[in-house]
Amino acid sequence: MKILAIDIGGTALKAGLVDESAQVLEFREAPTFAGEGADAVMERVVRLAKEFCGYERLGISTAGQINPHTGEVILYTDSIPGYTGSNLKTYFEAALGIPVAVDNDANCMAMGEYAYGAAKGHPDFLSLVYGTGIGGALVQNGRIYYGSRYSAGEFGHMVTHFGGRVCKCGKQGCYEAYASAFALTRLVEERTGQALSGREITKRLDDPVVEGLFSQWIDEVSCGLASLIHIFDPPLVVLGGGIMSPPQTIRRIENRLPHFLRESYQGVPILGAALGNQAGMLGAAHLAMELPNSR
Ligand SMILES: [Zn+2]
Repeated sequence: MKILAIDIGGTALKAGLVDESAQVLEFREAPTFAGEGADAVMERVVRLAKEFCGYERLGISTAGQINPHTGEVILYTDSIPGYTGSNLKTYFEAALGIPVAVDNDANCMAMGEYAYGAAKGHPDFLSLVYGTGIGGALVQNGRIYYGSRYSAGEFGHMVTHFGGRVCKCGKQGCYEAYASAFALTRLVEERTGQALSGREITKRLDDPVVEGLFSQWIDEVSCGLASLIHIFDPPLVVLGGGIMSPPQTIRRIENRLPHFLRESYQGVPILGAALGNQAGMLGAAHLAMELPNSR
């Protein structure tokens, strides 16, 4: 069975035709033009889907708080006006006439890593993705733990600094205001005047100022992870996002974690995500494959 998987992001729509062994047979990308609003974006997704053929199901990965059972967008930022309240499952099933699975992007990434990536063979783990914010998911018995309102796993908004920096969510002191890749790149730019990506920063650690800021950031990341490990006692933690791909980032976190962890919690394996920016798409494909046969 072939699946079409589409990742609806704030700037780009990424679509891949995927087979059962997670091979991406065909890939296309289109701009989201988020500002045009939900209806225009959803029509564009349908047009993109119709450029492919031979698939039997559609998997959608999208930012926002999603009810995966109904396919409704419970909450999304204003960057796609009118997206909150849209029902993606109903809309795409009607437009394309095939079963559709929809989930939040961080959940899809975790399912991608579980089905085909770093967490393959590990039904229980925590997944975190460090980018402009910090997304997360808790996987239990090979399934996402959703919580009572489909919003579990928002690890980025756990408070690590009481009364600290203002976060994008409007609250203060959230983990992502200190430990996201964006928090690091912004700090480096403020202190050095250089706009470097997370990956570039990891190549500039011979500069003592950059090294100092990176080292502080590693502490911020490790401190939040330690809290999560104390709470969930997970058998595995998978860390994604471009900043986690140079092996030294994970190594530095592993070296620093023991400082924050109680002795009996030490030694939890920390792995870098394996699927890069295809994790969301492949996770959505996996969720679509898992759909029951009848709608
Ligand atoms: Zn927050």
